[in-house]
Amino acid sequence: MPNQAYLRVAGLSKRFGSGENAVAAIENLSFTLDEGRFLSILGPSGCGKSTLFNIIAGLMAPDSGDVTLNGESMLLRPGMTGYMLQKDLLLPWRTVADNIILSQTLHGVRRSKALDAALPDARACGLETMLRRRPDELSGGQRQRAALVRTLQTGKPLLLLDEPFGALDAITRLHLQELLTDVCMKKDKTVLFITHDVDEALLLSDEVLIMGSQPGRIIAHYHLPQEKPRTLKTLALPRLIEIKGEIMQLLDQEVKRHDPHA
Ligand code: ADP
Ligand code: MG
Repeated sequence: MPNQAYLRVAGLSKRFGSGENAVAAIENLSFTLDEGRFLSILGPSGCGKSTLFNIIAGLMAPDSGDVTLNGESMLLRPGMTGYMLQKDLLLPWRTVADNIILSQTLHGVRRSKALDAALPDARACGLETMLRRRPDELSGGQRQRAALVRTLQTGKPLLLLDEPFGALDAITRLHLQELLTDVCMKKDKTVLFITHDVDEALLLSDEVLIMGSQPGRIIAHYHLPQEKPRTLKTLALPRLIEIKGEIMQLLDQEVKRHDPHA
């Protein structure tokens, strides 16, 4: 097929419940993304971001629409993406080391080999001294970092990251943002990234989707002008400041539409 998009989300709709209580989690949502691009998704809580990810990850069927990767349907086919859920879902009985190599060991890779491969990312995420601990001995931020390393280790070319940096302090967050940009550029990953932080989206992304709620839908799609990697300095460029202003206004309108007192 000529000009076939790498990732294509086409006319996706999903409702929960029925009758008066029905919620249009997402309605007729469509976009495409080229290989190697980093797309951030911003939108108010409840606008269907996690639902979209669950469908792309093959964990949930939509009511209508399709998602394709290189023309192949991804619907109800888990395992085509590296998915980091909003909840870290580390296995409590396994050490950090055994959690971050979970995907490889499930696929029959030898433990020592998988650990060797995971060490550079674990080190870069500051987890080197935590490898023998269990998840309940870690802080929230450390758990998120372990979940990120595990997702990177899946080796999948398409990553879905649902607010991966939500529970991190500012310094650790900056550090991991740099790591993620670096890893994605080096390993040529394609990334969908949910965040609440407009600056984070502008720093990391090639494109930004803004979603609105009830029904969950796309209200804007930006292609950012500046080459990556961006630094905090590039965020001060006039065009990026302008885009940030527009995004803040869209999100503000969207929140006020549902709660005029907000
Ligand atoms: P977001 O991740 O943007 O906060 P979600 O995708 O989690 O939004 O949810 C979108 C909407 O669908 C919300 O109104 C939420 O309450 C509803 N929803 C999500 N999952 C379910 C479910 N399993 N059952 C019923 N309603 C759900
Ligand atoms: Mg969510």
